[in-house]
Amino acid sequence: MTQEEKKKEVKMEDVRARAEEKRCPVQQSLVFIGEFLAGPMCGRCFPCSLGSYEAAVRLGRIVEGTSTDEDFDSIKRIASIMAEASMCKKGKDTARFVIEKINTGEFAGHFAGSCSEGECRDLSEYIIVPEKCTMCGICLDACKDNAIIGEKKKSYLSNYQPFEIVQKRCTKCGECIKVCPEGAIILVSKKELKEKETVTA
Ligand code: SF4
Ligand code: SF4
Ligand code: SF4
Repeated sequence: MTQEEKKKEVKMEDVRARAEEKRCPVQQSLVFIGEFLAGPMCGRCFPCSLGSYEAAVRLGRIVEGTSTDEDFDSIKRIASIMAEASMCKKGKDTARFVIEKINTGEFAGHFAGSCSEGECRDLSEYIIVPEKCTMCGICLDACKDNAIIGEKKKSYLSNYQPFEIVQKRCTKCGECIKVCPEGAIILVSKKELKEKETVTA
């Protein structure tokens, strides 16, 4: 290997660290495979060259909330074939990472329509429960994306409204939920919200 190639060589521990900057195991798998696909692919073994691309497409469907059970089965199958048949460490490490993540309850939860980490924006929403909100404004200061609207309560004024989250601005960073002293901010799956809307309609 030339010095130039050595410089470009991807360190798997760096790829893992980048993937684990995400909290959701599906998103982590997507980052890991994405890094793998972005690097040089020698094409010496078939399961890796085709399988990794196919797995990335199916992981993308999970994140978008359009996946089926077949996607889950296929990712599992591709990862186990890649782990077995890949000829290099990079291919095997990628497959093993995905298998490790598939085996978490949080990964499987996506097939019931929820991302417990709240990172898959098409699956879940952070909302403020109006009855619990005391209008203290702590979440407003914590939200770096200006996704929370509301006016802090002043003791000498009345008629204040509970705070709200503007969904299209929310980046699902989860900072607001950590700071609310009343537990008024919750993460709900869109599926759950839709079911509630249907019942109340
Ligand atoms: S697993 Fe490794 S050897 Fe096989 S095609 Fe992928 S990069 Fe090449
Ligand atoms: S931190 Fe909680 S209680 Fe305070 S304004 Fe935000 S949602 Fe309401
Ligand atoms: S999850 Fe992040 S972006 Fe969304 S409202 Fe909370 S702090 Fe703002």
